[in-house]
Amino acid sequence: MANRFFPNDLPEFVEEKEGVVAQSTLHNLLYLPYPKLTDKLLKAALDLKDKVVKETWVRSGRRAKDYTLYTGAFGTAFLLFKSYQVTSNRSDLGLCNEIVRACDQASQGSPFVTFICGRAGVCALGAVVAKEAGDEDLLSYYLRSFREIKMPGDVPNELLYGRAGYLWACSFLNKHIGEGTIPSTDMSSIGEDIILDGKRLAIKGSCPLMFEWYGEKYWGAAHGLAGIMHVLMDVNLKPEDLEYVKGTLHYMIQNRFPSGNYPSSEGFDTDRLVHWCHGAPGVALTLTKAAQVFQDKLFLKAAAEAADVVWNRGLLKRVGICHGVSGNAYVFLSLYRLTGNVSYLYQAKAFTCFLLDRANKLIAEGKMHSGDHPCSLFEGQAGMAYLFLDMTTPSQSGFPAYEV
Ligand SMILES: [Zn+2]
Repeated sequence: MANRFFPNDLPEFVEEKEGVVAQSTLHNLLYLPYPKLTDKLLKAALDLKDKVVKETWVRSGRRAKDYTLYTGAFGTAFLLFKSYQVTSNRSDLGLCNEIVRACDQASQGSPFVTFICGRAGVCALGAVVAKEAGDEDLLSYYLRSFREIKMPGDVPNELLYGRAGYLWACSFLNKHIGEGTIPSTDMSSIGEDIILDGKRLAIKGSCPLMFEWYGEKYWGAAHGLAGIMHVLMDVNLKPEDLEYVKGTLHYMIQNRFPSGNYPSSEGFDTDRLVHWCHGAPGVALTLTKAAQVFQDKLFLKAAAEAADVVWNRGLLKRVGICHGVSGNAYVFLSLYRLTGNVSYLYQAKAFTCFLLDRANKLIAEGKMHSGDHPCSLFEGQAGMAYLFLDMTTPSQSGFPAYEV
């Protein structure tokens, strides 16, 4: 696997048409009218979901050794919740509830406070599932548990382990349980702490906010600027703090690589990674959101340019959400939701059909990596199932645990 990605030789656009026999099974899928493709994606997603449940939950004796959404049982629970949202299948909701309970036990006393890798995610989804199931006592229990989470003094600011990841859990609760479940003043106060920290490492005269995680000034969605700015746009910030967010995004656009890709960290000059975690895909999602929040065409243009990089270099040799084809497909879905431009929906469809048609075969042949945790949500096939489900209703789609 010398190169990190497959050259993209997919057609630039294909008009959907009934009954076309094209040059390959992949091309046949691209011609398929959307409702027919949806049937195939739904079937594939539900088969994958059953496989993921078997591998990550049943085979482990229904125990949550790893309670995280990233690689652990909580990721399976999150996929089951998505499946329930799409199909209204109550048994998925019941199983989701069972797994979240195990994750609740496993995450007691955890020092981590985020949605993706910490206890806030477990309590937040627990509350939402309890509400869906009509279990008031359980809802109160999870909301109380969420409020008992203490922010450690040395907490970082990034998404996977830091303040931004906690704020994301707050936004998730407010969306699904109701505005004000976590008061906007509580969220603003954490947002202000983030801004305060960011100002300390600011680059005078050019970048108003900068952060460090384990000594690196990351730019990407998982540990750096893109993820932190993304979450801050959901917080009710003071106008001057919003200017810091805007200024930071302008700095990133002005200092991207000549190719249009983004460095994984400040001063890192190797143009290599096109991942959600590091590189153009994560930044593109943030810029798309900025275009919407600030109503600024400059952000939309930069997002579209980042999406071009993802189209050309984003067919990665991995299937997952964090650094795989599934995650990269969300860049096009996000731009499609904002602009209504069907060529973005086509690009999302092309990446999805590539996975549907070829992923299993390429993995079996050793040409594609199955991920260190092959059935997990962020590294493995659960992420692919999540994307397939989202593709059945693109207007309701959202990068898991990132786009609220
Ligand atoms: Zn990654």
